[in-house]
Amino acid sequence: MNLLLCSLFREKKRRRVVELTEKMVVDGGSGRTCEWDGRWNHIKKFLERSGPFTHPDFEPSTESLQFMLETCKILVIGAGGLGCELLKDLALSGFRNIHVVDMDTIDVSNLNRQFLFRPTDVGRPKANVAADFVNNRIPGCCVVPHFKKIQDIDETFYRQFHIIVCGLDSIVARRWMNGMLLSLLVFEDGVLDPSSIIPLIDGGTEGFKGNARVILPGMTACIDCTLELYPPQINFPMCTIASMPRLPEHCIEYVRMLLWPKETPFGDGVVLDGDDPEHIQWVYQRSLERAADFNITGVTYRLTQGVVKRIIPAVASTNAVIAAACATEVFKIASSAYIPLNNYMVFNDVDGLYTYTFEAERKENCSACSQVPLDLHFSPSSKLQEMLDHLTESASLQMKSPALTATVEGKNKTLYLQSVASIEQRTRPNLSKTLKELGLSDGQELAVADATTPQTMLFRLCFTS
Ligand SMILES: [Zn+2]
Repeated sequence: MNLLLCSLFREKKRRRVVELTEKMVVDGGSGRTCEWDGRWNHIKKFLERSGPFTHPDFEPSTESLQFMLETCKILVIGAGGLGCELLKDLALSGFRNIHVVDMDTIDVSNLNRQFLFRPTDVGRPKANVAADFVNNRIPGCCVVPHFKKIQDIDETFYRQFHIIVCGLDSIVARRWMNGMLLSLLVFEDGVLDPSSIIPLIDGGTEGFKGNARVILPGMTACIDCTLELYPPQINFPMCTIASMPRLPEHCIEYVRMLLWPKETPFGDGVVLDGDDPEHIQWVYQRSLERAADFNITGVTYRLTQGVVKRIIPAVASTNAVIAAACATEVFKIASSAYIPLNNYMVFNDVDGLYTYTFEAERKENCSACSQVPLDLHFSPSSKLQEMLDHLTESASLQMKSPALTATVEGKNKTLYLQSVASIEQRTRPNLSKTLKELGLSDGQELAVADATTPQTMLFRLCFTS
């Protein structure tokens, strides 16, 4: 599969280079400024001679470099820890047409690793500052910033890119991007048109762990195919917290989950606020007492806040490794000189260094990429709430706030919708009604919209007896 795509991509690229060369002739040739002798020697070594690791169909030429410099358009999603590294790596590898999307502004706590930002940039949009920095530093490179949410940009924007790289810290955003690229696929008589595929390179890090993966939407495993790899949340087992704590974290969780609601130190119904120093101080003191009872050391104020706010510290070196792996994959696919990663790399340097790759497999009934409407099995007497719980809690769906509609007696009916307060209020009574009472029938099609994808997902209701 990868080989096939590689050659298709190469053909697509070749055509563009021809188009570009023709255009340059018409234009009288583009004035190539900001070049100097030997500038791309490090890249040419990979593209202008073959080697033991080059792609079997690879033919050394100067065209690949021209394609990368002049034509290839890359989109980087995220200008944070991974994004800064990615922009630097890509720009130094010869990519010059780069767009970057990020909705965040710079916080002082970013400065230890997001190295394109300086103290005077605090408060400014990450995308803009990162783009300015790279454009000033690397002659000829043109990074175009978009200070926006990915959800606020439409498909015509995404369609213009050859390759998209994600350096995101949110699974919902990743899934949305995955869904967007799947929605761009063109099928003719059920056969996928390979020229509609935009490869997605996805990097992710969490502390000392990270992963890099190559996704060819519609051909290889997508984000949702492997959703089970992302556990909804890391929680300690309650029995450990309550009776056999071993780690300082267990003591803090004990105070957070059991003592806080029992002792209500700041009054009835006051929710523990991770940003309130008095709250954290209280939890910290009680956690120390708990830790002393079990001879556990290591409870600190900082750790307390980290556990309460579920902060996973970002590690600059992990970001650097994962971004480098992702940028290498972009280079391999754009140049077609090497076989891309197939298709998932795991990196872990918690204790020593451990890394391996495996081929994540497509899920036959993936709700995002399988093209098959999923069956939902419920009894006619199940309540709508149960269906909603299934959509949010099932490991393979993990939706955030699904909105359900169905056609009932020829009319489009909103069964439940959470995101608009007035509609939520109007449809809330439906949650306690049974599917039968709502007029749903066996084999009924249900349309579900959710923040995890730009597309509406179709499900088929199958009544169980
Ligand atoms: Zn999938």
